[in-house]
Amino acid sequence: MKQKLTAKQQKSLREIIIAGVLLAILMVVEHTESIPLFNEHSWTMLLACLVPYLLVGRDVVRLCIKGILNRQLLDERFLMTIATIGAFATEEYCEAVAVMLFYQVGEFFQSYAVGKSRESIQQLLTIAPEYANVIAEDGSVETVDPDDVEIGDVLLVKPGEKIPVDGTVIEGSGLINTSALTGESMPREVQVGDAIISGCVNGESLLKVRADKLYDDSTVAQILELVENAATKKSKTESFITRFARYYTPIVVAGAAILAFIPPIFFGEFTKWMLRACTFLVISCPCALVISVPLAFFGGIGAASKAGVLVKGSNYLEMMANLDTIVSDKTGTLTQGKFKVSAVNPAADFDKDSLMRYAAAVEQTSTHPIAVSICEAYKDEIDPTALAAVENLAGRGITANFEGRKLAVGNMKLMNELGVAVAEDAVIRSGTCVYIAVDGVYVGSIEVADAPKSEAVRAITDIRAEHVKNIVMLTGDAEDTAKKVAAELGITEYRAELLPQDKVSVVEELLEKVGVAGKGKLAFIGDGINDAPVLTRADVGIAMGSLGSDAAIEAADIVIMDDNLERIPTIIRIARKTIGISKANIAFALAVKIACLVLGAAGIVGMWGAVFADVGVAFICILNSMRTLAKNA
Ligand code: ADP
Ligand code: MG
Repeated sequence: MKQKLTAKQQKSLREIIIAGVLLAILMVVEHTESIPLFNEHSWTMLLACLVPYLLVGRDVVRLCIKGILNRQLLDERFLMTIATIGAFATEEYCEAVAVMLFYQVGEFFQSYAVGKSRESIQQLLTIAPEYANVIAEDGSVETVDPDDVEIGDVLLVKPGEKIPVDGTVIEGSGLINTSALTGESMPREVQVGDAIISGCVNGESLLKVRADKLYDDSTVAQILELVENAATKKSKTESFITRFARYYTPIVVAGAAILAFIPPIFFGEFTKWMLRACTFLVISCPCALVISVPLAFFGGIGAASKAGVLVKGSNYLEMMANLDTIVSDKTGTLTQGKFKVSAVNPAADFDKDSLMRYAAAVEQTSTHPIAVSICEAYKDEIDPTALAAVENLAGRGITANFEGRKLAVGNMKLMNELGVAVAEDAVIRSGTCVYIAVDGVYVGSIEVADAPKSEAVRAITDIRAEHVKNIVMLTGDAEDTAKKVAAELGITEYRAELLPQDKVSVVEELLEKVGVAGKGKLAFIGDGINDAPVLTRADVGIAMGSLGSDAAIEAADIVIMDDNLERIPTIIRIARKTIGISKANIAFALAVKIACLVLGAAGIVGMWGAVFADVGVAFICILNSMRTLAKNA
């Protein structure tokens, strides 16, 4: 374990060791008859024991008093303080020291464990760039804070430096390391013209990058914000523990009070019952639960981020464990989303080049994968200022005025809406197709082809193996294409020709079904293009390959950074493991506590037993929780 201890941890470790040694000496002295002054119940022994007690316990006592003054009684510090004062009162000095000492050992261990988990999440935080080199007009280089970079600035990124803001490479080429962001260890190649994402680390080459976004809008800042907020969204299991502790502690304190004061009325021996009551308090300390359950979730989120998956809160992790239905977008999610023009079919009295020119003119306004492919296939530049009244109709296509003509580029739905007549034999059924109309007259179509992702079939099989009952594919594409892709991927349920709002209603319909059936959850997977509303509507919205797409990062609950569908079964496994570990901890801790409480009240387990039960359970639970951090779920 190479984690360095913080100054505070080092201090408490020192205090624990010193107090431990003192306690050991005092315990030996106590039982050595030749030193009568320090026998078991002497006041000198009391004074001697106060030294290690205050060494490790002064903060606990101080915070307890502060809590009392603020009327926030009844936390674990209160339990510990009362229990140890009770032990002193009954002249069990060494026991009092031991309770406080072991309590601090537990606290120390907890802080170490939290640090360890945080460290793995913070590996993500190391993506934060510390500075940026801005090249001024005169060629001089100035080092500034990433916050001060403006859009259009030219940045110099030296070998090994982090990319400070999202931008485009304008000079140089080479490999960049995206592993901190995506968990992907293969470096990615970039060339002039490629978009480059902040937080990646430059390899061996010198790059000049034009800043396309401000730091705050860049991927890195958004991811950091997301990680920092993850802790605030609590899972049900966690809130259960918080609520539990709120009722549990007062009940225990009341129980202890009854134990201390009622039996002596009948049986006498006040000291004995007092001691039992203190034992009762020590055992009842809920630290193990209060610490280990959030720690397990923290670890689960850490493990996910190691695998290149950002989980925005432990509640989403919990839902992933109860996943029943996965609804997935097609384009860009199940398929590569990299279309290629495969055929150009002009109508009878039209030519290929004009058809492509019209299509490309309109599509240059869109970032839709179909649009990108058409612009790529048509190499010539088209003056964008010649376009007017551009309307992007999500799930259908685009209409615009161009060179005095009214153009419509989109699917059959769009043609039908505009009343464009397309001859039956011009309809393409074999794949995705874009139809083009000029002034309301059909002039031809462009076929584009997209292939399923290479890992898609395997990922779907793995998801099924995780007992996700329903997998449904949604798409805005034509029925025939949808059918073909679904068959290739082994998905039996699909819905085609949906507009973005139709996707929302399908998801709502499915949500209802899932909700009625039980506590199963529904996740929607999309690439963020045209599906932000559904991402928000599903129980869990999972955005794929959205490095750089702000809308998706914002709308999604879980972000898969490297576009790989195989991360979904992985995250389900991590989620299940996390939940399993938390539940095991809760069951184990409660079982041991209840058993010890009964035995303690009966006087069978004494103060020492209580100390070991408390620290031991916390120790085991924390160790168990830390297993979530292991990558291989
Ligand atoms: P998916 O549901 O497959 O992700 P979208 O909702 O993004 O697809 O789009 C649905 C359909 O709308 C596409 O298959 C295409 O036919 C049409 N479409 C959307 N945007 C465009 C565009 N810019 N150019 C041409 N067609 C488009
Ligand atoms: Mg889409």
